[in-house]
Amino acid sequence: QAKARGRATYQFFEPALAATAYADLVLEAELAQGLTRREFELFFQPQVDAVTGQLTGAEALLRWRHPQRGLLGPDAFIFVAERHRLMLDLGEWVLAEAARTARRWREQGVTAGREPMRIAVNLSRMQFNLQGFADTVRRVLDEAGAQGEWLELELTERMLMDDIAHAPATLAQLRALGLTVSVDDFGTGYTSLAHLTELPLDKLKIDQGFVARLPDDVGAQAITRAIVQMALGLGLIVTAEGVRTSAQLQLLAGWGCQQLQGELVGLPMPLNEFESWVRAR
Ligand code: C2E
Ligand code: MG
Ligand code: MG
Ligand code: MG
Repeated sequence: QAKARGRATYQFFEPALAATAYADLVLEAELAQGLTRREFELFFQPQVDAVTGQLTGAEALLRWRHPQRGLLGPDAFIFVAERHRLMLDLGEWVLAEAARTARRWREQGVTAGREPMRIAVNLSRMQFNLQGFADTVRRVLDEAGAQGEWLELELTERMLMDDIAHAPATLAQLRALGLTVSVDDFGTGYTSLAHLTELPLDKLKIDQGFVARLPDDVGAQAITRAIVQMALGLGLIVTAEGVRTSAQLQLLAGWGCQQLQGELVGLPMPLNEFESWVRAR
């Protein structure tokens, strides 16, 4: 079926374009199959307190163990899933898997500090914009035997601004369920600062593009420091992503950035490896 469609499409495009379209169709079929065949898994990246170094949580990052192509990161397949309803199924699987993992960590005492770790889940635009998304989250939590307090949801500025009419209500519903709401890749989008004060948010994650240019780049310094100050002024927690060096850590912590994530602490790891990593701390 996919093959037949692929061949039909071929006649309407330049060869290079047709090859891409065909590859996408194959990928789409493989994605659906991969879900039923349980080829997806979550990797976990530690998030720590910037001052004490104490573990505060982990970000769940999607991986696909493709039978022929090996381990794939989200950039290799999310874009195809997002053009189809498939992203809703995949996104719900991610949410459910994170909720089940959070419950297991509580049962098995997988924690490094006084408080149990929260798992941060990335959302796609399609999920967040769907009517009744908070109801889906509630159902997934119930089915997993998990509490909203155990999870954090990461949205992008774009997702918030594209649905600015409904975003505040949806965010309020999610927070009422106990979930933490954070804005990922902050500083790369086009959030109006006026809207930022009206949205019920908990956290801003400074984009790793800025962090990577620290400590020397004065432009990145100015932007990063301004984001930290604004977040603190708005009563939001601020996290830095992609922290690789202790010079970057010093600068960020000095400005008041509360949490960090990146190679300096640990890269994303498979579940087992992450659990051993936590126990070894
Ligand atoms: P993100 O949410 O901004 O995640 C951070 C990305 O930076 C991750 O890439 C992570 O592996 C990488 N990273 C973390 N620390 C460092 C560092 O110190 N240096 C460098 N160079 N990179 C670092 P990854 O796992 O390939 O994910 C890419 C993007 O895919 C994520 O960006 C997120 O937007 C999206 N994504 C991941 N998992 C999911 C998911 O379950 N659902 C959806 N909708 N999107 C997801
Ligand atoms: Mg993220
Ligand atoms: Mg990010
Ligand atoms: Mg990103």
